[in-house]
Amino acid sequence: ERAAVVAAPITPGELADGTAIPLLANLGSPKDAAAAIALGAEGVGLFRTEFLFLDAKTAPSVDVQRVHYAQLLAQFPGRKVVVRALDAGADKPLSFLNDAHEENPALGLRGLRALRASEPILRDQLTALALAAAETDAELWVMAPMVSDSEETEYFVSLGRELGLTTVGVMAEVPSLAVLADQVLGVADFVSIGTNDLTQYTLAADRMLGSVAQFQDPWHPAVLRLVKLLGDAGAAAGKSVGVCGEAAADPQLAVVLVGLGVTSLSMTPAALADVRAELRTVTLAEASERASRALAARTATEARAVASA
Ligand code: PEP
Ligand code: MG
Repeated sequence: ERAAVVAAPITPGELADGTAIPLLANLGSPKDAAAAIALGAEGVGLFRTEFLFLDAKTAPSVDVQRVHYAQLLAQFPGRKVVVRALDAGADKPLSFLNDAHEENPALGLRGLRALRASEPILRDQLTALALAAAETDAELWVMAPMVSDSEETEYFVSLGRELGLTTVGVMAEVPSLAVLADQVLGVADFVSIGTNDLTQYTLAADRMLGSVAQFQDPWHPAVLRLVKLLGDAGAAAGKSVGVCGEAAADPQLAVVLVGLGVTSLSMTPAALADVRAELRTVTLAEASERASRALAARTATEARAVASA
């Protein structure tokens, strides 16, 4: 069944000079869509698909997946919905996909690496997404998690196109992908930066480990410099570079990300109002100025101090 479509008035994200910065929602279930729309989400920037697969002994069928994805897409007619391919690894293992006994799950066979090793599962998921898109009027974008370089990007993009998807991209979570941003943006239709994992890998600090939590700070200038590589490559290629990690939900950091070339922000719906309000206080030139100051800082703490209003 399709949920009722509520025509909520949506205030689009924009800067003081009128530059549009679409503000999108991170969702884990079609059930959460109505609340996100009520909070002003212009679409979905990250739909996590893990929940459909968890606790299953085998991967859900194409038909079960198609119905699930169509329930989401039907709630966003005419709007962008970015769905992430299954992101499973030994930290959240699936019996039909992962070996749960890796010593370093974050560095293991996860995300696209695991899907490529079990390609029939990936093919079913992409097929179900293409079928769901054909049933609805949403603008479906599909992306892969944990991608390292342009060869993996090419693999995912060509498989997606073969299976009927029109807009196919990758997440920037592994530093190597950001370093190779120019090559990747030559192949992908778009990039979405997962700042949670990008920070974990850049600072070599397990994001689940409390003792190194102070390293898990997306304000770190090393992370910001990688974001700039992606923003510059996106601008050169004329392609969208979004952020869907928690960094997008920090209003001051959201301004800096936009100043680094990020073109859309996706976050937990509860954060949309504060980010929308902060973006309206700065022009693109002012955001770039704040970004320059943050890039020159030595630490995350310094970056936060010099770049905040
Ligand atoms: C990220 O890594 O920033 C991200 C959005 O993905 P997740 O938090 O699901 O790993
Ligand atoms: Mg991630």
